[in-house]
Amino acid sequence: MQKPYDVIIAGGGVMGSAIAYFTAADPAFDGRVLVIERDPSYEFCSTTRSWGGVRQQFSTPENIRIAQFSLPFFRAAPDILAVEGEGPELSFREQGYLFLASERGLAQLRRSHQAQAGLGATVELLAPAELAGRFPWLNLDGIAAGSFGYENEGWLDPHAVLHGFRRKARDLGVDYLTAEVAALERLGNRVIGVRLGDDEALSAGTVVNAAGWNAGRLAATAAIDLPVRPRKRMTYVYDCREDLSHMPLTIDPRGVGFRPEGGQYLGLVSPPADQDPDCDDFELDYQLFDEVVWPTLAHRVPAFEAIKLSGAWAGLYDYNTFDQNAILGGHPDVAGILFCNGFSGHGIQQSPAVGRATAELIVHGGYRGLDLSAFDYARIPAGRPLREAAVV
Ligand SMILES: Cc1cc2nc3c(=O)[nH]c(=O)nc-3n(C[C@H](O)[C@H](O)[C@H](O)COP(=O)(O)OP(=O)(O)OC[C@H]3O[C@@H](n4cnc5c(N)ncnc54)[C@H](O)[C@@H]3O)c2cc1C
Repeated sequence: MQKPYDVIIAGGGVMGSAIAYFTAADPAFDGRVLVIERDPSYEFCSTTRSWGGVRQQFSTPENIRIAQFSLPFFRAAPDILAVEGEGPELSFREQGYLFLASERGLAQLRRSHQAQAGLGATVELLAPAELAGRFPWLNLDGIAAGSFGYENEGWLDPHAVLHGFRRKARDLGVDYLTAEVAALERLGNRVIGVRLGDDEALSAGTVVNAAGWNAGRLAATAAIDLPVRPRKRMTYVYDCREDLSHMPLTIDPRGVGFRPEGGQYLGLVSPPADQDPDCDDFELDYQLFDEVVWPTLAHRVPAFEAIKLSGAWAGLYDYNTFDQNAILGGHPDVAGILFCNGFSGHGIQQSPAVGRATAELIVHGGYRGLDLSAFDYARIPAGRPLREAAVV
């Protein structure tokens, strides 16, 4: 008879698969890992509906350090994640990120830039005249400055990242099971395993919650309060007659983001907090395009005045309502559970660093490389938010 699993990971998206890979790849680990994924087509998960943006431009040192670990991993991923000589093609487009600030956002942009520069990030702060020279397609009306990551930033293919981790994890002996985790099994102050939709129970020494936007609901089955909710984010796809395919991923002060994609362009905005209800449907919302996204695009980029909307998709953020940052580590009072949740729009780019760090908790019982304890779940019951200003 096979021995039971040492580690069960609930959710096999980019995070679950990254943790599975880093755990199985650690020479000190000789246990068994099971990833339970309810939908191996990944149709509705966040990963496959994401923009794949990669940036160093965060405000908290912890998030900047995560970016600085993850980027070299992405560059080397075709070799590191190769199976039988074939590695994933991540299609990293290093076209940069450009954060634009109005007078109101200027002080925060400067503070963030200082934090980034202090850690060696390759980001420059540009005055309007410099922006005009560098990006002549921009309308700089209302812009006080821009922060431009001229290298090490851009976007990559989230499907390729997910399947790269998954394929390599399986090659290293990780099992993937197609099933729904109906509940976490809790006995007193310990999570001892999971119960599947068909009522089968599976036990493990460690259970990882990597259930993306569903993570809050899953935690609730073990009476654990995890402030992660599904929040809808619409992506609009449009054509433009002028060729601006060289532009960076740009964020307007109103929060509207845009970037080129395969001859077309993408636009997105996160609604204000008071108009951002929990939501797990995928219905398309064109009102947001008409009222916010298009007027902002047309104002900021004159060539976008004459765009043609050609499509849209809805995706769900794994939104951390407490402080919009990752929630990692164990629970202060409940053993046997690790969290890997709440990335709120920046989980793809954090998957290498967070996957490795969570594997270190599993294998070594503590962080060995990057210390990510600032993201501990414990900050939530303690009421200590870790504020990140650069959330899109
Ligand atoms: C529109 C949009 C744009 C984004 N842009 C970016 C970006 O530019 N850069 C960036 O870094 N991030 C971005 N993100 C965020 C990023 O996609 C997420 O943070 C990241 O994908 C989270 O990965 P995950 O594995 O935790 O969750 P998911 O990808 O959602 O995976 C969770 C998995 O768990 C499974 N699951 C859930 N519940 C259960 C259960 N009970 N039993 C079994 N399986 C279960 C699901 O089927 C799913 O496959 C964006 C997200 C969206 C929606």
